[in-house]
Order: sequence, then C-alpha cells, then structure tokens
Amino acid sequence: MSAAPPAPLFARVALIGLGLIGSSIGHALKRGGLAGRIVGHARSEATRSAAMRIGFVDAVTASPQEAVAGADLVILCTPVGTYGALARAIEPALAPGAILTDVGSVKAGVIEAVAPHVPAGVHFVPGHPVAGTEQSGPEAGFAELFDQRWCILTPPPGTDEGAVARLRALWEAMGARVEVMEARHHDLVLAITSHVPHLIAYNIVGTAADLEAVTEAEVIKFSAGGFRDFTRIAASDPVMWRDIFLSNKEAVLEMLGRFVEDLTALQRAIRWGDGAMLEAHFRKTRAIRRQIIEAGQESGAPDFGRHAGAGKPPPER
Ligand code: NAP
Repeated sequence: MSAAPPAPLFARVALIGLGLIGSSIGHALKRGGLAGRIVGHARSEATRSAAMRIGFVDAVTASPQEAVAGADLVILCTPVGTYGALARAIEPALAPGAILTDVGSVKAGVIEAVAPHVPAGVHFVPGHPVAGTEQSGPEAGFAELFDQRWCILTPPPGTDEGAVARLRALWEAMGARVEVMEARHHDLVLAITSHVPHLIAYNIVGTAADLEAVTEAEVIKFSAGGFRDFTRIAASDPVMWRDIFLSNKEAVLEMLGRFVEDLTALQRAIRWGDGAMLEAHFRKTRAIRRQIIEAGQESGAPDFGRHAGAGKPPPER
C-alpha cells in the first residue's frame, strides 16, 4: 500500500489574478498537493476559461467576492494599482481567520492601499516572490518559477506570527526561500535590483527607437551587440510596470539619483580618457556577476540571451 499523500497546507486558496504569477502559483500548489481546492478570479472571461482549460485552478468565479468566500488563503496576483479597489471589494467576503497576502513588486504602497480594508480577525501578510519573466497571462505560468528563488514577506508590526509561519511554509513548499523584511527596506532593495534596471531598459530601447542618425533597421540588425538583452526586459508588461513606478516612487527616485551621479562619473572618465577608472569599475561589476552565479541566482552558461526553454526564460525579478 502506498503512503497517503500529505495533507494540503490550506483547504481553499483563492487566486485573484491569473496571469504569470497567479498561474505559476496555481501550478506550484498543484505540483505539491498544497491546496485542497484552488478557486481563481480574473477580470476577463477569456483568462478565466484559459485557467480552467490549462487546469491550474479547480474553479473560477466572475466575482472576486465569490472566489474568496470560505477561503483560508487569499492571494492578490493582479497589478499593484488594482489592490486598493480589490481589497475594498472583497473585504465583506473574507472569512474570519483567513490569511490575505499578495505578490506585488512594491510593498509599502501595497500595505497603504490594502491594510485599511482588512477586517479584524483576518491576517494580512504582504509578500513578493522575486521571480518572474517578461511574459504575462495565464499561459505564461509554470510550476518551477519559484524554485530556488527568494520570496520576501513584509508583515507590518503586530502581524500574527502563526500566520507568517504558515505563509512561509507554503512558499517553501512551492520551492522558494523565504526572507522577512521591513516593507520600506524591501522597496529600496528592489528599486536598485529590479525597478531601476527596468527603467534603464525601457529608456535605452526608447532612445534607440527615436534616433535619427541610426535607422531602426540597423538597430534591429546589429542588436546582438548588447541592445537585444535590454529589449527582453523592456518587453515586460506595460501596466504592471506603470503601477510599480507609480507605487514605488520615492525609492526609485532615490536610487535614480545615485545612478545618475555614477553615470556622470563614468561620462567624465570617458571624456578625460581615464582608462584606469573605467577598467577598475568594470572589474568591480564583473565580480558582482560572479557572485550572483555563485549564489545560484543565474547560470554561468553563455546563452547570448537565447534560453533553451524558449518562452520560459530563467526567473528575472
Ligand atoms: P499578468 O500576467 O499581467 O496578469 C495579471 C492578472 O491580473 C490577469 O489575470 C488579469 O486578468 C488580472 N487583473 C488585472 N486587473 C484586474 C482587476 N481589476 N480585477 C481582477 N483581475 C485583474 O501579471 P503578473 O506578471 O502575473 O503580475 C501580477 C503581480 O505580480 C503584479 O502585482 C506584479 O507586481 C507581481 N510580480 C510580477 C512579477 C513578474 O515578473 N511578472 C514578479 C514578481 C511579482 P485579465 O487577464 O482578465 O486581464
């Protein structure tokens, strides 16, 4: 007789938003048998029926209230700009004792938007899986997205420790490593590791598109010189990234200030032919790449941006 499968960690999980992250959570929950039942909600019928067809949810509902009713875990997986209105909408339907969490790439702004709508007896534990790709939608998800990636939890002071521990256990069971951090610190760290790099990519691709002296055909033809790698990041979802910059304004502006200062120093070194400064700088940055590979957050294999599993590039942010 084979051993009975492990008991699910949550009896009913509601996924609000069924795009890349919502669908990946659905797949990861199913892979580990971690949820008794998964109920999904997305605003469009097309996304809801795609989720059912792919099979990473057990049921879908047209209203977010119906999805969260009776759920012991609710995960917001929509763009962060929607969180306030969604939290207000689901507030009366949340079950006492339920854990409400999210996957938003910004944390202080999310807490500000959601916390006022969390009823007494519901535990709000904000979270952010630092894993993703430039793909979006229900077809983009896969169970392995969170394997070996970090998930950062930012419980506000006074959050129930049992609820934090249950959510930590769930993320670990989905393959992630978990770190607990203060929300504002999270936003600063992510501003430099994710948000500013995306802004730089959006900016350089935009600049190239607007050039007059170099034609667009030339930019595309000779893109292997480095530009192509920026276009992958600059292809990320426009609505999601609009919301991230609006929501993490302060931290992004602070990091951009530092970035511009350092860029000016490099500009000056080029102008004055300061090769020693340039070389020392490039040696320092190369060492950081080595540390990322050693930490298991990237493969050292040269792939020139062409990942073997097309459509499923390695986790990015
Ligand atoms: P996505 O693929 O674009 O999916 C967004 C989902 O939200 C879609 O199912 C969409 O439904 C639904 N949605 C949007 N507005 C809604 C509303 N008002 N009511 C109900 N459903 C709504 O986005 P994603 O990449 O999964 O990102 C989701 C969240 O994860 C964001 O907060 C983002 O900051 C965070 N995150 C993303 C990444 C990443 O790499 N992508 C990484 C970590 C965290 P329809 O399809 O019906 O429009």
